[in-house]
Amino acid sequence: MTDIFCKIIAGEIPSTTIAEGEDWIAIYDIHPKAPVHALVIPKKHVEFQDVDATLAGTLLLGVWEIAQKLGIDKNGFRVMINHGEHGSQEVPHLHLHILGGKKL
Ligand code: AMP
Repeated sequence: MTDIFCKIIAGEIPSTTIAEGEDWIAIYDIHPKAPVHALVIPKKHVEFQDVDATLAGTLLLGVWEIAQKLGIDKNGFRVMINHGEHGSQEVPHLHLHILGGKKL
């Protein structure tokens, strides 16, 4: 399955990379819902049901790295995953939203 995040990771669609690890990239959300809105996305196409403990841990460590890099680690932030229809998930490729920069 190919989705917009697969295309971003493949370099077929432009995006602003904040940082990347071996297994993930972090980009700015194109429609920010907070002063700081980043996405941490596994490079491999995975959906929630495919996640293993290693990837879950790696992504959470990526979130903390990005929060520090964007300067929102001290005041705090929200991490969110939308899943499926009731979660209003738009892109069927696992990703973690990081929202911060103000009190939510
Ligand atoms: P969701 O699948 O509901 O968790 O949300 C997908 C998110 O991806 C939304 O917040 C979109 O604004 C964001 N998004 C969609 N296309 C792009 C893109 N090309 N670059 C950055 N963010 C995007």
